[in-house]
Amino acid sequence: MEHTVSEPVRTHTCGALRPTDMGGEATLMGWVHRVRDLGSLIFVDVRDRYGITQVVARDDQALLAAAKRLRPEFVVAVSGTVERRSDETLNPKIATGEVEIAVRDIIVLSEARRPPFQISDESPVSEDIRLKYRYLDLRRERMQRNLQLRHRVVMAARRALDEQDFLEIETPVLAKSTPEGARDYLVPSRVHPGEFFALPQSPQIFKQILMIAGMDRYFQIARCFRDEDLRADRQPEFTQIDLEMSFPTQDLLFGIVERLMQAIFAANDESIEIPFPRLPYTEAIAKYGSDKPDLRVEMAISDVSRVFADASFQVFRTIVAEGGAVRALVVPGAGRYSRTQANKLDDEAKELGGSGLIWVRRGPDGDVQSSILKVAGPETLGRVLEVVGAGADDLVLVAAGKPDEVSRLLGQLRLRLAGREGLIDVHRRALTWVVDFPMFEWSETEGRHMAMHHPFTAPRDEDRDRLDTDLGAIRAKAYDLVLNGSEIGGGSIRIHDRSLQRRIFELLQISDEDARSRFGFFLEALEYGTPPHGGIALGVDRIVALLAGEASIRDVMAFPKTAAAVDLMCGAPSTVNPRQLRELHLRTGS
Ligand code: ASP
Repeated sequence: MEHTVSEPVRTHTCGALRPTDMGGEATLMGWVHRVRDLGSLIFVDVRDRYGITQVVARDDQALLAAAKRLRPEFVVAVSGTVERRSDETLNPKIATGEVEIAVRDIIVLSEARRPPFQISDESPVSEDIRLKYRYLDLRRERMQRNLQLRHRVVMAARRALDEQDFLEIETPVLAKSTPEGARDYLVPSRVHPGEFFALPQSPQIFKQILMIAGMDRYFQIARCFRDEDLRADRQPEFTQIDLEMSFPTQDLLFGIVERLMQAIFAANDESIEIPFPRLPYTEAIAKYGSDKPDLRVEMAISDVSRVFADASFQVFRTIVAEGGAVRALVVPGAGRYSRTQANKLDDEAKELGGSGLIWVRRGPDGDVQSSILKVAGPETLGRVLEVVGAGADDLVLVAAGKPDEVSRLLGQLRLRLAGREGLIDVHRRALTWVVDFPMFEWSETEGRHMAMHHPFTAPRDEDRDRLDTDLGAIRAKAYDLVLNGSEIGGGSIRIHDRSLQRRIFELLQISDEDARSRFGFFLEALEYGTPPHGGIALGVDRIVALLAGEASIRDVMAFPKTAAAVDLMCGAPSTVNPRQLRELHLRTGS
């Protein structure tokens, strides 16, 4: 074909043309999305990030021949006149659906091999193939939408934090170990044989030092690296909105983060109410059996130990007398379950690691029905129904044992049954703060207390004198932000006092020497006038996934690794050439 346009220049994107452009000339560039060949009439949909425009070739034989040669994913430049589509091809679903280009020139800018899956339809493709050909997968509408949303979220976060006087400051990627509880990725130093950088698990220490440096308010869209054991939805590198402020109060910081979250939701055209409710950790565990409760579900666990404390049913009475608890969960609507169905929940509880479960409900005549009616008697069980306020259609599940374990079991059943019974309001955004986390948790494997958040977290003032007596009872000035049952952020008010920081290291059994070699620079910095400070990190990947309605964070990352921590597109990790190893003073094992 003869090219009348030798060096075409794009005049419009594929999402731009409207009826007001009719009669004008346009040159579009993009990918061939679909070709419909009707012989003397060929429709070509041309696609770019902004949309799809229908292009039609007719009459001219050379032009029809050129259009016939087009294949999906060729990159083309098309020029012609903007016209109204014929009635049968009007497409109200897309913004350009009223117009088409009567094409005069078609130039192939780049041919394409036949892609391993179709870009133009969203039919499922195995994730391994999607990740190997990520550049093709990213052309599909879903991923285009997700990455655009991610961009808007990050931009909204930047704007909201800038408005609140936060400075965006970058911190090193080649750094020193940060204690976030995972393994470090190490980078060997070529110029210092035998020495290593660690990739930051978070910018934690740097952001605290920025407070000591007088920056007052810092944020960063920070990449974090954690070499964790493989779990389905973890990524070895992920992104946080990381922030820190000086002279905070918890209320002040929560207010800042709530406004930030409002801006983030607004980037997805959603409005949310602030302030978010706050739930103490112990209450979250007792009522929902989780430190990240899904509050889209109304059901809560209640304690019915009192009922059994002096009842004749000995098994539960003994458990209560020995400091255990009996707790109950009302499942709305499940009163209709057959006995077999209800009894099966006991097996399910055992599968979840519980020691079992009983059920109670009202029969059609108001009589008490239960899996332990004979041994516990209708009177005691009737009181359970009263205490939990069970209605005629409800099924009440009761478990007994160590208080937290009972709640965790009922908490898992709460989510399962809510899902099964359609009790989760999928349109709701339930945001909540979980506050007052324990400062320490006991590690059986390590045989010592570990920091539940990280070792820079301050204890609550009223709990400080327990540092010498009862570590397990100390609450920290630590908080998580939870959205629909997922932890989307966590942070704390920090220790700004050198001697308290040293004491916490001692309690964590980090030796003086270890503390000095790992955090000596930081301990020293604390001695030069440290303002009270605190902060939080919010998980960008998880937040965007929740906003996009995606179950996996991989679907909101451009180039994620598989669940087995492999980059299928680049083929990383991979072996390197022996010379590189020698330069780094490394030998591979075996
Ligand atoms: N560095 C913490 C984390 O990554 C967040 C914080 O304490 O600000 O979880």
